Amino acid sequence: MKTDVAIIGGGPGGSAAAMFLSQTGLRVTLIEKAQSARYHIGESLTGECGNCLRTLGLEAEMTSRRHPVKYGVTVYGPRGKNAFWVPVKGWHPESGLFDTHTWSVRRSDFDHMLLTAAAARGVSVMQAEAIAPLLNGDAVRGVRVRTNGGTVEDIASEVLVDASGQATFFSNTGVIGEKVRGNYDRQVAVFSQVVGGIRDPGAAGGNTLIFYRQKHHWAWFIPLDDQVTSVGVVVPADYYRSKNESKHQFLLRELHQLNPELARRLPKIEFVEEVRGISNYSYRISNFTGKGFLCVGDSHRFIDPVFSFGVFFAMKEAEYAASAIASFFADSKGEQPNPFADYQRLCDRGQDNVQDLIDAFWQHPYAFKLLAHHRYPEDIIHMFAGRVYEETPLPGLVAMRAINERGRKNSVAHECAGRIDSVHQ
Ligand SMILES: Cc1cc2nc3c(=O)[nH]c(=O)nc-3n(C[C@H](O)[C@H](O)[C@H](O)COP(=O)(O)OP(=O)(O)OC[C@H]3O[C@@H](n4cnc5c(N)ncnc54)[C@H](O)[C@@H]3O)c2cc1C
Repeated sequence: MKTDVAIIGGGPGGSAAAMFLSQTGLRVTLIEKAQSARYHIGESLTGECGNCLRTLGLEAEMTSRRHPVKYGVTVYGPRGKNAFWVPVKGWHPESGLFDTHTWSVRRSDFDHMLLTAAAARGVSVMQAEAIAPLLNGDAVRGVRVRTNGGTVEDIASEVLVDASGQATFFSNTGVIGEKVRGNYDRQVAVFSQVVGGIRDPGAAGGNTLIFYRQKHHWAWFIPLDDQVTSVGVVVPADYYRSKNESKHQFLLRELHQLNPELARRLPKIEFVEEVRGISNYSYRISNFTGKGFLCVGDSHRFIDPVFSFGVFFAMKEAEYAASAIASFFADSKGEQPNPFADYQRLCDRGQDNVQDLIDAFWQHPYAFKLLAHHRYPEDIIHMFAGRVYEETPLPGLVAMRAINERGRKNSVAHECAGRIDSVHQ
């Protein structure tokens, strides 16, 4: 079988890439191993992720499916007080910021909607598992798949896109390097869904709430429909182990104890989904493009879930990837060493900027709040929305980088002083 572009994975990254590519007239084959709509974590979307959906012509569909409308995120301090609010705002080059909204989603429905929309736009969707890349020297020339019935088939492609999420197909099959642990690797997330959580009144009822307890210890509250709310707790792995509880017991207790405002919003906890856990989800793989291949979304990097950038990165990178692939075909598939190097630089820039934002939040919470609230509130609104690809960094981001850098120097100085002390003892 031959196709122009083959895509591994029918999550938001794969389906969005397929839809953007379908607009270019290329033949696209998407390979998804899941047999039906499946559970997935990652439910709160950023403002620019909402815009990606609008660009794909899916706003009416999102509205008709009644996904909760999100106008922003509130982050509560440790005692349930000192909350800060970041609204979802759009931006226009002439008129500046304007009010808009995005959504939160039940991922089984949302991912199924995207995959169905891709198929309706002419993408050939194949239910199969990608099992090996087809290589020719350092170039990728296609993918071997195993279908449901157990048959093995080879699909030849000009470009193979890895959108396999945390399965990181290219890394696991040696096409690209190994995963390097990210800054937030030693964390565990435990999560489920509840009915009856107390939301903000009126239109604010669909907003995402974050509850901070202390460094690397926090919880989320994300409405999924009129009744059901996704709740999850993220903690250091050592802390999780020290509790020696089942996932169910752990989540129940944490939801009561982590933050008084969260406890107030969950007077009675009834889980309506399995209690699940995930760890080791923060990583990076550096060189994720090359001859005949590129990665989008989680297949090359995931930083930290705290400000809900995952689906946004998957969909925005899909849009950029489709444009890079279209240029590659328009250039008669020129034989550069890496036709997708510019795409990779662009993705790195966006992800590095978000990494700096998140590092500042975790490492320097008081300075972060000062910058977010008083010095650069507009810059924070831009970054939380996902406007993170500009070549010239926003002043608010420059300030955050400076505090991160100062923090790194201080901790190196502190470590050196510790070593000198131990030599003297
Ligand atoms: C605790 C936690 C909370 C999060 N919360 C949020 C949030 O609130 N908002 C947000 O935006 N993001 C959140 N995320 C991140 C989000 O889950 C991911 O970033 C997002 O799903 C990435 O999309 P993707 O398309 O790259 O991969 P995925 O959504 O993982 O899709 C990958 C697809 O590939 C398929 N696949 C894998 N291997 C193969 C194969 N060999 N052959 C065929 N198919 C294959 C899988 O079945 C899957 O359907 C969170 C992450 C974590 C860990």
